Amino acid sequence: MTLRSPDADPPSLLGAALDGVAQAVVICDPAGGVVFENAAARRILSSRPSDALLAQAVDDLVVCALAGSTSERRVELLSPARRTLEVRAFPVASPPLGAVAVIDDISDRIRLEAVRRDFVANVSHELKTPTGALALLAETIEGETDPEVARRLVVRLGAEAERLSRTIDDLLDLSRIEANESPAVDEVDLSELLVAAVTPHREVAQSMGVQLAAPVVTDASVVVGNRRDLLSAVSNLVENAVKYSEPGGEVAVETARTQRGIEINVSDHGIGIPARDLSRIFERFYRVDRARSRTTGGTGLGLSIVRHVATNHGGRVKVRSVEGEGSTFSLILPDSRVGSDT
Ligand code: ADP
Repeated sequence: MTLRSPDADPPSLLGAALDGVAQAVVICDPAGGVVFENAAARRILSSRPSDALLAQAVDDLVVCALAGSTSERRVELLSPARRTLEVRAFPVASPPLGAVAVIDDISDRIRLEAVRRDFVANVSHELKTPTGALALLAETIEGETDPEVARRLVVRLGAEAERLSRTIDDLLDLSRIEANESPAVDEVDLSELLVAAVTPHREVAQSMGVQLAAPVVTDASVVVGNRRDLLSAVSNLVENAVKYSEPGGEVAVETARTQRGIEINVSDHGIGIPARDLSRIFERFYRVDRARSRTTGGTGLGLSIVRHVATNHGGRVKVRSVEGEGSTFSLILPDSRVGSDT
């Protein structure tokens, strides 16, 4: 069977079918002459100078394939955009009647692998710190004879265990939300949602001398979404607003219906966020001040959860913050009633 016999024009069914394949496919005769290139190969092996590297790799591997062996090579191209391509060539039949080279753009796969590796390294580090502290505290308590000191150490041990458990809970939440498998179809009553998000933080707010006002819901009363995830997102924003406030500070939770959609705004007059950190605070485990986050028991995952919930709902999250003055986080959700009278 040939892909394109010399007199067959337009190309054979097989050739046309290979044009639909995402990878570039090059087929060579026993002398190494190219008898077929699919559409992706014609695109990728065009005459740009950086592609000379790629053409060279294809030539080298085809020579190996015609000698009977299968081999592969990675080629890094720097222009027009940085890309990593994997070239693989293998003989057709034995002894070879020809060779096939397949070129795959693996840039996305490599990027995802790097993200995953970083994530595993970060998680391991985040879990190692509290488990190390637990082991050390347990060891110290064992040798402690003063009951009062032992009691204080037990309290610290409890706090470290609590932090560890919160990190694991947040990781589980984040992976569930990232998988985005739960349908976002609940009719969520905003007043009820905001009260449920605020109430668990009243005690901490009070103990810190922070005034946590009752949520104010105006204009919009219902959003369509996943109630559990929305609650988790708003609750994280309220928790941060309280945590990063100073004694005497005020935290407000309000809704507004704007052209952008339905906004849930959580504002505080706390420590604020330096401008240079604003673009990074939604990354997993990113904290502006590690020491402060550690004392407040932060996991560094709250805002990643908020961002994912916003994205899963077709919305986004926006932050306005001035260092030393305070912050306002806005969770903006699509307005399902746009166009209706209500
Ligand atoms: P954490 O568990 O450390 O609070 P988050 O992901 O919720 O983690 O937030 C990431 C970082 O963003 C925090 O460590 C903090 O430095 C900063 N941050 C978040 N919310 C606020 C806020 N309302 N005011 C000041 N800084 C904030």
